[in-house]
Amino acid sequence: MDESSFIFGVDLDGVVGDFYGALRAVAAEWLDRPLESLPTEVSFGLSEWGIEEYGGYDKLHRFAVTQRDLFRILPPIKDAPATLRKLSARGIRIRIITHRLFLKYFHQESIRQTVEWLDAHDIPYWDLCFMKDKGAVGAHVYIDDSPGNVEGLREQGCRTIVFSNSTNRAISGPRADTWKDVERLVLESFEEWRTGTLDLFGANDYSAPPRI
Ligand SMILES: [Mg+2]
Repeated sequence: MDESSFIFGVDLDGVVGDFYGALRAVAAEWLDRPLESLPTEVSFGLSEWGIEEYGGYDKLHRFAVTQRDLFRILPPIKDAPATLRKLSARGIRIRIITHRLFLKYFHQESIRQTVEWLDAHDIPYWDLCFMKDKGAVGAHVYIDDSPGNVEGLREQGCRTIVFSNSTNRAISGPRADTWKDVERLVLESFEEWRTGTLDLFGANDYSAPPRI
């Protein structure tokens, strides 16, 4: 890790991009059902949309990315790109960490759409990591929406903000409901780091005990 910079580890889907909103429209077409029939309050895995009998989540995801350019058409979440520009201008290093390559055979398409989308919305970043083990790349503070990722990062001792959506209501804080909250929480950590009082919670130090 570059010790001269404060690193903010940023998940994309459900945090910077409105993944569930965009996928819902694609799912309605794929299932040939009216959009309104698909609930917006979903849990992780989208069982509420009844996709299992049509082949399941992986098949919907593949269709969405390869045939409907999901990662290019994704609307950004309100204030996310502007806040990332602001944080970057303060000298915070944005490290994007996404698990978008979890399905085989369309990695090129996924990566191309991701990079084009980041540019199209003028989202600043120093690093772009396609990783399952997000804790392995190191950051001073992370943000993620997936309950499994948030819990996994925290178990590794990484300071992690949960970005609110219907998939993660049961997860404890620190929590951001909006990007205004994200800005405040990240700047608080940045200030602690700058003044030498940030408890790194073992981030980038795997021998450290997990934070309780
Ligand atoms: Mg996510």
